[in-house]
Amino acid sequence: MSTSLLKVPRNLIKINSSTGRIVPASLRMLSTSASAIQERMSSGGADQSSTLNALSLAESFETPSSNWSKDQIAEIYNTPLMDLVFRAQVQHRKHHDPTKVQLCTLLSIKTGGCSEDCSYCAQSSKNNTGLKAEKLIDVEKVMEKAVIAKQNGSTRFCMGAAWRDMQGRKSGLKKIGEMVRKINDELGMETCVTLGMVNSEQVKVLKDSGLTAYNHNIDTSREHYPNIITTRTYDDRLETIKNVQNAGVGACIGGILGLGETTADHVSFLHTLSNMTPHPESLPINRLVAIKGTPIESQLKNQPKEKQLKFDDILRTIATARLIMPKSIIRLAAGRYTMKEHEQFLCFMAGANAIFTGEKMLTTMCNGWDEDKEMLKKWGMQPMKSFS
Ligand code: SF4
Repeated sequence: MSTSLLKVPRNLIKINSSTGRIVPASLRMLSTSASAIQERMSSGGADQSSTLNALSLAESFETPSSNWSKDQIAEIYNTPLMDLVFRAQVQHRKHHDPTKVQLCTLLSIKTGGCSEDCSYCAQSSKNNTGLKAEKLIDVEKVMEKAVIAKQNGSTRFCMGAAWRDMQGRKSGLKKIGEMVRKINDELGMETCVTLGMVNSEQVKVLKDSGLTAYNHNIDTSREHYPNIITTRTYDDRLETIKNVQNAGVGACIGGILGLGETTADHVSFLHTLSNMTPHPESLPINRLVAIKGTPIESQLKNQPKEKQLKFDDILRTIATARLIMPKSIIRLAAGRYTMKEHEQFLCFMAGANAIFTGEKMLTTMCNGWDEDKEMLKKWGMQPMKSFS
């Protein structure tokens, strides 16, 4: 089959001169084209779909597809970089206002002493990082920090607790529910929490408090995962994510690049995310910050240069995510402070549209509000409003 059959003809799209967004010239024509391709995919099965030009397919869908094969994702990921970033930016403009970036701030509400063995984490009790375990902080303290975040322009406030799960933490859950409610009602900010594994009843408590999103990362590919964490399985993670999505709470799901994985792991990681229904509401991409005292730090210290994570691969991961999960908010998370400004710029070109900003990002450093606002202003970008 000729791949050119699946390219979106130029006369099907136009650029809105006031917003800069790419829009279909004719919705009817575009939707006919996309549904014809979708029909061909479902009638032809995996063999036929794998012969399609995956990039053109990604551009053609009007509604996001959760039916991607690893081969298709690899094909997109390995597109020549200039073309990949350009096509991701066009896709971005079809689904988002390219001038808007969501600013969010992440606060650690319960630091350290976690029973999990995530090999990159400063907060695991198994890792010798010298971090002191603390108790869940008070609602007033959280509100103080949320007010500062709001005054500085953040519209989403995220709270993280270093716990394996919420089993036997009824009063903690109630207290966190109160934090969520107050931040919503008094400050009008979006809220996100990350508290480890949760069941349906626990998510319901958070949903009833007005929670916008629950973060639970898959971290890396299913294949590489056992090299990173042994105390909970990949499927445990997927179960928590299902509980969150079934409760109607937005799922914030991403991972960490630079854990000694290969590009095939990046493809596999994106495959898991893009085959979820729905796709992640928010997709945080972290670049490993190797912390002294963590197993990953000593493992990677002597890694040959050619095996180290390259910036190109961060860019390819973001651009591919944007093409196959067009509506998700793609968030530059931990490790952004290690990127030069022009590297961050390229990430935005590739489709990232959110950043963590503020005093700290859990236990790692974070770019501050002032430098971020100045950087965005320089590029003609503005903070996104809450609930937009
Ligand atoms: S579950 Fe979270 S807090 Fe606990 S060790 Fe893993 S990453 Fe760290």
